[in-house]
Amino acid sequence: MIISMRPHASREEVDSVCERIRDFGFRVHSIEGEERVVIGVVGVGGDVTACLESLEATPGVESAMRISAPYKFVSLEFRKERTVIRAGKAEIGGDEFVIMAGPCSVESESQIMQTAEAVAAAGAKILRGGAYKPRTSPYDFQGMEEAGLKLLAKAREATGLAVITEVMSDRDAELVAEYADIMQVGARNMQNFALLKALGKCGRPVMLKRGLSSTIKELLMSAEYIVAHGNSQVMLCERGIRTFETATRNTCDISAVPVLNELTHLPVIIDPSHATGKRSLVPALAKAAVAVGADGMIVEVHPCPQKAVSDGAQSLTIEGFEEMMRNLSGYIALWKQERMADMAVAV
Ligand code: PEP
Ligand code: MN
Repeated sequence: MIISMRPHASREEVDSVCERIRDFGFRVHSIEGEERVVIGVVGVGGDVTACLESLEATPGVESAMRISAPYKFVSLEFRKERTVIRAGKAEIGGDEFVIMAGPCSVESESQIMQTAEAVAAAGAKILRGGAYKPRTSPYDFQGMEEAGLKLLAKAREATGLAVITEVMSDRDAELVAEYADIMQVGARNMQNFALLKALGKCGRPVMLKRGLSSTIKELLMSAEYIVAHGNSQVMLCERGIRTFETATRNTCDISAVPVLNELTHLPVIIDPSHATGKRSLVPALAKAAVAVGADGMIVEVHPCPQKAVSDGAQSLTIEGFEEMMRNLSGYIALWKQERMADMAVAV
């Protein structure tokens, strides 16, 4: 259920609505907007119809409605205003198409420094790099762990880029949050519910990647876990899903972006690297990400992809990244015009 209070309803009115909700055996999750308070009613077991009828007649309430979607806090019904997430100098979900770039894995100081400086100069605002790597084979490189996190922090210091890095386990969440500006949940962990709950309390924005065979609804339900456990700073990432097609590593569900934009207020990022698995295909999909109205993209870049310990085949060289950024600039300018127009309408 969602209760929308009248604009400028008094504190007493809001408090008495919350008290009534609790009397019915539910919990309260309220969001204070500029003009009005919106209250989410959470929990099971209470009498929803009786609670709804009672609230409709309560002073200060503008509307009380049952929501059909099983996810609540992440739905556009719950919050009309788009979520904007700040990380370093970047604002994701606002009027900038945000580029996150860097290697699949952090490998060495020189590798991460060289990449960070180059991607920053070419226009990226966020540095990616995995220190904890979810690998299909236990014999493959598993990541530098805390030593990798320290190198990412050093690269942030040197370049001013914010850092996004993957967290694989709830046990590592606190440590990763000490170094990361954005916590990445990898596709394989989209339904690691212990991790999602821990990220609700981590105090950092989260980028949740869509699972290899997950539906959009399942993605939103996973995002709901993080928000319901206390963290509303969540962005979603389409990184390609499993289909019968073998020409690409995964199939980028490009329509997930407009679908998500109809269902949720959370920002949406495209990952053209994992979606295609092939360096030559990344720039075309990056254009599609801009054109389809994503809020940004995350792309793998390596100074020497043939020597990369993971995902070399899909990593752009530094020169390739620079060229892609030059070719994207006109598309991004159009994106910005459209976004500013949308934001003006929303106001
Ligand atoms: C990654 O970003 O390097 C990664 C492992 O991505 P995904 O979880 O989408 O496979
Ligand atoms: Mn990778």
